[in-house]
Amino acid sequence: MTNGAIPKDFWAALPALAPGWVWLVGGGPGDPGLITALGLKALAEADVILHDALIDERLLALAQPDAERIYAGKRAGVKSCKQDEISDELIRNAQAGKRVLRLKGGDPFVFGRGGEEAQSLARAGVPFRIVPGITAGIGGLAYAGIPVTHRDTNHAVTFITGHGSDGKLPHLDWGRVAKSAPTLVFYMGRRFAGEIANVLIAGGRDVHEPAAIVANAARPDQSVIVTTLGGLAAAAETSPALSIIVIGENVKLAKELNWLAAASA
Ligand code: SAH
Repeated sequence: MTNGAIPKDFWAALPALAPGWVWLVGGGPGDPGLITALGLKALAEADVILHDALIDERLLALAQPDAERIYAGKRAGVKSCKQDEISDELIRNAQAGKRVLRLKGGDPFVFGRGGEEAQSLARAGVPFRIVPGITAGIGGLAYAGIPVTHRDTNHAVTFITGHGSDGKLPHLDWGRVAKSAPTLVFYMGRRFAGEIANVLIAGGRDVHEPAAIVANAARPDQSVIVTTLGGLAAAAETSPALSIIVIGENVKLAKELNWLAAASA
């Protein structure tokens, strides 16, 4: 019997964030309830926490009172740390024998440069663990009632970044992207939404195809705009910045599966 509480044994059996180690942890898309048990454990144990801009304060409040909190955000258009500096900071703290938590939004290995940070750690000989998180392009859509796959609509999905490293639309073979899967999910796509729609239509996608922009997903200010591929540019202008764009027939399910409205009523 647990009386509804999670038994201490459960936590004790999970790996501990040891001194000299770095854990790269996904914090999920917004709702603090979406962090994993390992993520919670790391928050409670860390001496140093390097977090990005998308992390909920309620999660950071779980840190030890004397834990050092370092803001290491990277957001388009906002002055932020250089990637090398973040990696150096992780390495320096780990080599000083600290228990280091690198807390990132969503999943650290999905468009979050977690792979690059892990490479830096590996090259420096710093031991690390990856704690996956719920990525915005899956969990964020679920909060909008959009299943990322459904047998009636799509057997495949393509995840794409809408923002290249040079600050422009990524140099992709857009004709192939258009044909890659029935459902396309864009991270960082809002700024170039109109261009994305144009290259996809040029690549053979239907202008009337359902599309949605899910902004601030899993946050109290979540907004969902359901439109069409042709309407994407106009919708992007009214949508908040932090958003996922999803294109495909699965978007239609949002109407029937809008569970969040019932949960917050
Ligand atoms: N590692 C993160 C993605 C980092 S890239 C993950 O797995 O989710 C940052 C982009 O993720 C944003 O530009 C936006 O497109 C998307 N994103 C992150 N959190 C979001 C949220 N709560 N709602 C909508 N989009 C989000």
